[in-house]
Amino acid sequence: MQKSGEDEWDQLIAGANVATMSLERAPFGQVPYGRVEDAAIAVKGERIAWLGTAAEGRSRAAAQRLTVQDATGLWITPGLIDCHTHLVYGGNRVAEFEQRLCGASYEEISRAGGGIQSTVRATRAATPAELRASALARVRRLMAEGVTTVEIKSGYGLELPTERRLLEVARELGETLPLSVRKTFLGLHSLPPEFGADRQAYVDRVCGPWLEALAADGLVDAVDAFCENIAFTLAETNQLLMAARSLGLAAHIHAGQLSDMGAAELAAQWGALSADHLEYVGEAAAAAMAAAGTVAVLLPAAYFTLRQTTPPPVAMLRQNGVSLAVATDCNPGTSPCTSILTAMNMACTLFGLTPEEALSGTTRNAARALGLQDELGTIEVGKRADLAFWRVERPAELSYGLGANPCVGVMHRGRMREALIHDGYPTLDAGMLEA
Ligand SMILES: [Zn+2]
Repeated sequence: MQKSGEDEWDQLIAGANVATMSLERAPFGQVPYGRVEDAAIAVKGERIAWLGTAAEGRSRAAAQRLTVQDATGLWITPGLIDCHTHLVYGGNRVAEFEQRLCGASYEEISRAGGGIQSTVRATRAATPAELRASALARVRRLMAEGVTTVEIKSGYGLELPTERRLLEVARELGETLPLSVRKTFLGLHSLPPEFGADRQAYVDRVCGPWLEALAADGLVDAVDAFCENIAFTLAETNQLLMAARSLGLAAHIHAGQLSDMGAAELAAQWGALSADHLEYVGEAAAAAMAAAGTVAVLLPAAYFTLRQTTPPPVAMLRQNGVSLAVATDCNPGTSPCTSILTAMNMACTLFGLTPEEALSGTTRNAARALGLQDELGTIEVGKRADLAFWRVERPAELSYGLGANPCVGVMHRGRMREALIHDGYPTLDAGMLEA
């Protein structure tokens, strides 16, 4: 006889250690990672219905005659969230990478048509099927490392039809894969050559008819701008944020990657979800971000690729109470990275985050950076059952390894992504099947 109400579960996973990530950063004396050992997680529909000890979970499941999935020996974390990517694009920049290492200067490469404009040309020329196929390969590598939510920016079309196509491919990935996708319109990424003589005309189009058309088609969850001396000004970024506000859209800003233009402060003023990069950011901006709840998204793989030498002021951001997230920034030019675990490693090794902060940065704080903190990012009753299963001895191992993938299973919206395992995807080992 089944019990009624909240005790009716669809599934119970028992025996694993769970990193709930429900604390920002565990102070000494508190339980790091919001850890619950020898735990059980009950799922009903696509939500977490209960969390407790394995013993109690098993006994309640027996009363419901529910088969228990045994996960003894594994760690379970929230499904990872890559909250900053540009992973839909045409072509790649490997030739430039090689030219540079063979001695060509940035200027020579740029004069030969390289840089972001080469990706724009390749992206405009690509068919939707080509864009989908190359993005799918990248996104599956992220998914194999436990990613259940990814943010994807447009920004390599820089004309309405191609920007639309990129956002449509992003939407389609979310509709066809066991993956949640947030779509960001990055119209202010780079000035396209055809508007070289009239910046304002381009900015007006992006902030006006293009944004309105894309938003009307449900293709925009948020806007983004690359606010930098080589890209768009503070005033142009402000114009976009104003337009986003009038349409009720959220915002992110590429801020302080190469210089401090005041973009992080602007992000805070507008209540943007995140300010991203932040190698160059001052204390006033950090305090404003903390007060506004604007998350600092750190992108160490871009820092690494560009061989930058001034890391984000992590200690200062911490002291000011800014939430720190970590993402891959997957893009063809400055961060050809499809490994969220590598980004976490680099956040620790290059930026000095603790392994716990790195994991908060791809779970709890990444959810906040996408405005999804009520749904995702921690293992708590009522939140979505997006879970990653790991064969590790302790959660710090997720940031420790380079090139190893200890992910052995993923649950998205309450359903195990078994297809990935059965496909024999090379970096996802079959440990979950043995368990
Ligand atoms: Zn970026």
